[in-house]
Amino acid sequence: MRPGRLPPEQEECARAGLERALQAGAVILEKREAAVDAVEAAVRELEEDSCFNAGRGSVLTAEGCIELDAAIMDGRDRSAGAVAGLRTTRAPISLARMLMEQGPHVFLSGKGADQYAREHGLEQVGNSWFEVPERRRQLEELLREDGFDDEVKYGTVGAVAVDVDGHVAVATSTGGLTAKRWGRVGDSPLIGAGTYADDRSAAVSATGSGEYFIRAVAAHQLAERVRLGCESLQQALDAVLADIALLGGKGGLIAVAPNGDAAWGFTTPAMYRGMADAGGRTVRIYGEDDDR
Ligand code: ASP
Repeated sequence: MRPGRLPPEQEECARAGLERALQAGAVILEKREAAVDAVEAAVRELEEDSCFNAGRGSVLTAEGCIELDAAIMDGRDRSAGAVAGLRTTRAPISLARMLMEQGPHVFLSGKGADQYAREHGLEQVGNSWFEVPERRRQLEELLREDGFDDEVKYGTVGAVAVDVDGHVAVATSTGGLTAKRWGRVGDSPLIGAGTYADDRSAAVSATGSGEYFIRAVAAHQLAERVRLGCESLQQALDAVLADIALLGGKGGLIAVAPNGDAAWGFTTPAMYRGMADAGGRTVRIYGEDDDR
């Protein structure tokens, strides 16, 4: 994802998808509705968009199927729902939301999670519904090189929002890493690692090499730096990325605080990202774009 290396159609597709997701979330916030509704709506939009590594368009496992992870959290009461290894549930983030609200558990995985979705009336699809040819090509390329994915897959989706009442929320959804095996689960559905929201500090979503974000408890670390320390949101975010870099990992974070502060940052050459507030909308891809 270096400037000029991404096919123009891919760039266009990502920008258009981000615009639609911002629109879906902004409409809800403008109606003075809850942040948690806005983040679910934004992530749903991106799960349906095959440009991103979540829902349709997700990366493939080493066995050539798709396993989806997602989590949602509401900063008002730190209620949360998380799901991992889904194969047939069309809307992973809506399943996480349903679990958050209807319980009785917080985190479900594999067949049981899809079964919960089915029993609660969420749409089921065949696993191949999620697949697009480009992801199959990426898997074949990686398997030929006998590699493990670190560069080829980006596109995990996440949304953070603060509503008119100062409540924050986060939603994250992903297909994980290309060629993942053995039921691997990344940081995205782990509350505190890739997803965290607390009205006392911030809502945070992560993307990147999940193994490192788990070890750094990245999203929770960011929120707690704000709550207990005297760092600004952006300082805390930069410090967490530096901590992950020390471990050898890279990726990106987005965050918002109840006072309306927003921050993003990444240690990769690019991160698809966008922001909407009363002043307008911004959509960006490369690191250099922030310098303009
Ligand atoms: N963090 C995700 C995972 O490790 C992947 C990504 O963000 O690209 O599953």
